[in-house]
Amino acid sequence: MKKVHNFSAGPCILPQEVLKKASEAVVNFDDLNLSLIEISHRSKNVVAVMEKAQNLVRELLNVPANYEILFLQGGASLGFYTAALNYLSKDGKAVYVNTGTWAKKAIKEAKLVGNIEVVASSEDDGFKYIPKGFNIPADADFLHITTNNTIYGTQYPEIPKSPVPIIADMSSDIFSRPVNVSDYAMIYAGAQKNMGPAGTTLFIVNKDLLGKTGRTIPSMLDYQLHIDKESMYNTPPVFPIYVSMLTLDWLKNLGGVPAIEKINAEKAAAMYAEIDRNPLFVGYTAVEDRSKMNATFNLVDDTHKELFDSMWKEAGISGINGHRSVGGYRASMYNALPLESVQALVKVMQEFEEKVSVKA
Ligand SMILES: *Cc1c(COP(=O)(O)O)cnc(C)c1O
Repeated sequence: MKKVHNFSAGPCILPQEVLKKASEAVVNFDDLNLSLIEISHRSKNVVAVMEKAQNLVRELLNVPANYEILFLQGGASLGFYTAALNYLSKDGKAVYVNTGTWAKKAIKEAKLVGNIEVVASSEDDGFKYIPKGFNIPADADFLHITTNNTIYGTQYPEIPKSPVPIIADMSSDIFSRPVNVSDYAMIYAGAQKNMGPAGTTLFIVNKDLLGKTGRTIPSMLDYQLHIDKESMYNTPPVFPIYVSMLTLDWLKNLGGVPAIEKINAEKAAAMYAEIDRNPLFVGYTAVEDRSKMNATFNLVDDTHKELFDSMWKEAGISGINGHRSVGGYRASMYNALPLESVQALVKVMQEFEEKVSVKA
C-alpha cells in the first residue's frame, strides 16, 4: 500500500496497528474461530470488550465514580436532542454558545425540548473566534458548548468558568487534551474523529443530575435506562466499540492524554508556523482560538489554487479541502496523525512558495 498522509476531517485517520487488529477480529475474534460481528453481543467476549472500552475511557479521562460511560447510536447529532431531553427540566432553561454549524444544530434540537437561551455567538464574524467573558445565568440547568469547532477550526483555549454544570460536544477534540470531567453534567462525542469508526457515540454522564426533568423519556433516548442496562439495552454497535477500544488502548500505551497533548501541540505549532510564515497563505481564525485539531487556512491569491492542489495530491496528501460551507483548506490533525504527515504538508507549502516565486 502506498503511504498516504490522511488529513481527513471525519471519519478520519486511525492508527495503522488498530486497523490491522480490527481487520483480524472481523475474521477470527479472540481465537474463537468466529468473527466479532457474527456472535452475540451478550457473549462473554463481547461483554468484555464493552467493559474494557468503558474502563479505558474512565482511566484516560479520570472519570469520577458518579459518572457512567455509554456507547450509544445516533451520532453526536442525536446527542444534541438527548442532552436537553435528559438534563433540561420542564420549566427550566439551558444556555448555549453558538460557535458554528454544530453548535447551531445543538441549539436547534434543544429548542424542540424546552427553553433555550443563546448567551454568546461568534456568528457576527464568520465563527472565526470563541466568545469570551459572557454571562452565564446561575439559574440555568446547564451551559452547552462545542469545545472544538471542526468546520471553522476554532477551539476553546480554556473551558469557561461556569456557575452551572456544562454539557459539551467534544466530538472532534475528546482525548486530545485533559478534561476535568467533574465540571460537566455530560460530555458526548461521535467516535469517528478521535476514537474509532462512525457508528457509536460516547456519552459520559453525571448520573446524580439525571431524573430531574419531569419528562417521560422514550427508552432509546433515556440515559438512565442505558445506564441500568450497562449500555446494552439493545444490540450495541459492537464493531465501532471494539475499534474504539483498540484506539483507546493504543493511546494508553502511548502515555495517555498528557502524552498525546504534547504531540498534538507539536503538530499544531509546525502547521501554524508555516501558515504564518508563508506569504501565500493566511489563517482563517483568530490566533488565540486556533484549533489544535483542525487548522483552517486560505490561499492569499486563489489563482494559484490549481498548482497548489496538484502539488499536495502528488505528495500523497489527502483530505485537506475545507468544509463545503467554508472553502479554503483544512488540515485535520487528530490524535492518530503522525508529526511526519504535518511535516510533509509543510514541505509542500514551501515548495509551492518556491515555484510561485520562480514563475513571478
Ligand atoms: C462531526 C461532528 C458532529 C456530528 O457528529 P455525528 O456523529 O455525525 O452526528 C457533531 N459535533 C461536532 C463538533 C463534530 O465535529
